[in-house]
Formats: sequence, C-alpha cells, structure tokens
Amino acid sequence: MSADTETEKRICDVLRLKGKSTALIIAKEIGLDKRIVNKHLYILQKSNQVFKTDEQPPVWDLLEKKKEIKHTLKPEQKPQTTRDTSEEEKHVEDLLRSGGLKAHQIATDLGQSRQTTNKQLYSMMEKGRVQKCSISNMWSLNEEWSEGSFSQERLFEMITELGDGGYGCVYKVKHKIDGKIYALKKVILTRKADSEVKALAQLEHPNIVRYITSWHGPNIWTSNQQRNQVSNSRTYLFIQMEFCEGGTLTDWIQARNHMEKQRTTAEIHKIFSEIITGVEFIHANNLIHRDLKPDNILFGADGKVKIGDFGLVAAQTDQNGDPIERSKRKGTPPYMSPEQENKKNYDEKTDIFPLGLIWFEMLWKISTGMERVKLWSDLRNQRFPEGFSDKYSAESTFIMKMLSYSPEDRPHAKDIKGDLQTFFSLEHDVLSQRTI
Ligand code: ATP
Ligand code: MG
Repeated sequence: MSADTETEKRICDVLRLKGKSTALIIAKEIGLDKRIVNKHLYILQKSNQVFKTDEQPPVWDLLEKKKEIKHTLKPEQKPQTTRDTSEEEKHVEDLLRSGGLKAHQIATDLGQSRQTTNKQLYSMMEKGRVQKCSISNMWSLNEEWSEGSFSQERLFEMITELGDGGYGCVYKVKHKIDGKIYALKKVILTRKADSEVKALAQLEHPNIVRYITSWHGPNIWTSNQQRNQVSNSRTYLFIQMEFCEGGTLTDWIQARNHMEKQRTTAEIHKIFSEIITGVEFIHANNLIHRDLKPDNILFGADGKVKIGDFGLVAAQTDQNGDPIERSKRKGTPPYMSPEQENKKNYDEKTDIFPLGLIWFEMLWKISTGMERVKLWSDLRNQRFPEGFSDKYSAESTFIMKMLSYSPEDRPHAKDIKGDLQTFFSLEHDVLSQRTI
C-alpha cells in the first residue's frame, strides 16, 4: 500500500470511529499536518468516499453515512450539506488546491478567457473561498481561516462600535497582547477595497490617520445592519489603525453650535492649516481623497488633525499621466464638488471645494437643520450669509476662491497653505485673542 493510500485509509478510519470531524481534528488524531490531511480529504472527496459540509470550518464525513442519512430523511427535508459551488468555480478550487496561482495561469489551465476567470475569482473571494495577495497577485484557497485555525482579528477585544457605514464598520478595539487601543475597520472585500489600504500605507504623515496593518479574514462582531445584509461566510478586509481619541471634526463643530464650547479663530486657523497640510501631502502623492467632510477628519490623542477614511481614494492620473475617467456621483453629496457630481473627468481640485465648506462650518454657528439647508445651497453658489464677509474678511476671500465653480479657479492645497502662513502669521497674536 502506498503512503498516500495509507494516509487516506487512516483518515477514513478516524471518520468511522469518531464520526464527522474537521480537518484539524483528523490531523491531530493521526499526527499529520492539517494541510496534508486537507489534500487527502479532497482526493477522497473526488473519489466519492468523503463529503464536507458548508460550515465554517467545514466538517468532513464518510459518504456512505450521507447515503444512510438521505434514506432516513423525509422527502421534503433537504440535507444541509449540498454545496452551492458552480462547476466552474469547483474547477478553480481544484486547481488552487495544489498551491497559489495567478489569474492568467488559471485561465490558461482551464482554457477560458482571463475575464471569465477574474469574474469567478472575485465571486469566490466575496464568498470567502479564495484570497488574493495584493503584492504577488497570486490567488490561493482560503483554508487558512476557514478551517478554524489562527486568525488575526481574534487578537482583539471589541470595546465599542465607532461607525457603521454602508460597506463595513469601524470598531474601537484593545489588542490582547500589547494592551493598546486601536481602531479596526472591517470592510466587505471587493475589487477596489485594497486601494484604501494601499493609500493609507503610502501616506505616512502626522496629519493622516496612522496605518498599522491589514489582512483578509472572516466576519466578526456583526452589526445589526450587516446581520440583515450579508452572509457570514464573506471575506472581509480588516484595517488596523491608530485610534483617534479626540473624536471627529463633526463632534467639534456640534459642540460649538450647541454652545457647549467656544470657538477661537486661532484654534480654527490651527485646525484648518493641519487639514490643508494633510491634503497637500495626499495631493503630492498623486492621490485624491474624494470624500473630505467633517466625519472623516479626526483628532489624535495629541489634538492634532488626522485625515481618515480613504475608502474613495483615487489616483490623480493614470500611468501615462492622462486624466482618468471616473464613475459619477461617488462621494457625499452635500460636500461634493460640482464636477464630482456631474463630470467624468476631474482632478485633485475636487478636494478643495469641500475644504471651503468645512472652513466656513468651523467659523459660523449653524443652529438648526433648516438653517443649514438654506445656507448650504447659497454657499455652494458662493453666497455667504449676511455679516460673514464683514466679520471674516480674510477668510471669506479664501473660501470664496475655494468654492469656485470651475476647478481651475480654485487654489492648490500647497498655495492655500503658503498663503495661510503668510497672511495669518501676521495677525496671529491679534487673532488668538479673538473669541467668536
Ligand atoms: P462612512 O461611509 O459613514 O463614511 P466608513 O465606513 O467609510 O463610514 P470611516 O469614515 O473610515 O468608515 O469611519 C466611520 C467612523 O468611525 C468615523 O466617522 C469615525 O467616527 C470613526 N473612526 C474611523 N476611524 C477612526 C479612528 N482611526 N479612530 C477613531 N475613530 C474612527
Ligand atoms: Mg467615513
């Protein structure tokens, strides 16, 4: 008997004696590595000797038992163990069983187009069956976590949910080993999800949320919203970041609109110049944020501005330096520049428009929702409320330019920063005394 056949016989003996088991349990029973056991289980599955359930981790059993179960089931009862994998996806899985492959290799091996293969791979990724390494572009089976072995997110204790958006959730977590508090963002893994991580990893700057690491893994800590939306077998992208304990700029504005705190022009100047410094750095890296708004501007433990949420980040130009055709209306409508709303081509100046609105919002008290609606449509058309330009003549000149309808008329982030320093440093002593 060959060594392989011997191993397969031992696996069947374990299943006969112990009943249905995971690969990990079988591996422990026969003293072999889980990967080797998995390989043999799939061979046994092919020769119709064993079957596995769709549970996570999958549970294996002898096929002869499945037949027995089938006989005892009433006609209307369906066994829980049928796989919903389409034939094509099964072929992809079989190929990957022997190790990681690139999409074009899979396409060649299966004699199908690259496009069809990519479609299958991304659909399998969303179901949590395969994963892609963003560095090598290699695809591999997602057995690492689905077999219940180590997964990084289990190293965190969830403290609270910080935000629950359409694509995922942000949690305040405590690392069980280093004891530190972090923000952990969990997003549904899609074709574009990796761009958020790539941007954050590239943008190391005191005014940008600090990135720690990221990984792909199964769902944990399901929010109410997600519980109704997605199946638990999806793969998620986890992004571990510094926790910004100072809250968001939305919190800062609201506390001042409700008179809990006072605003001083010196503080506003400091915050705004930190925002513009962060944005200047994003633009210098050939990126556009595309979703600047008070919710996405945070404050670190030291009180410094940290720009976050790079979920919509995009390159400014393609590899040849040409403009990129964009999908329309991506962003947050009240803060979106006119060209981001209507046009297919736009550049980094799209980020300057919301900054004009944000600066205004920091200076001007808005008491009610109604007042805000009215103000907003005026502001987007470069009209300020009565008294604003008299009270803030310097700021209103800047904001007016930033809210220009044509992107070409808006200043670059680096020019705004330079002008702010020149202009406001002269007045700084006077401004710092002014409470609004
Ligand atoms: P949305 O779609 O609502 O913009 P999102 O899913 O894109 O949300 P983020 O904007 O990154 O996710 O985060 C949502 C909220 O979580 C933020 O508005 C903020 O309140 C909180 N948050 C995000 N990152 C951090 C962090 N590093 N530290 C503290 N709080 C954070
Ligand atoms: Mg956000």
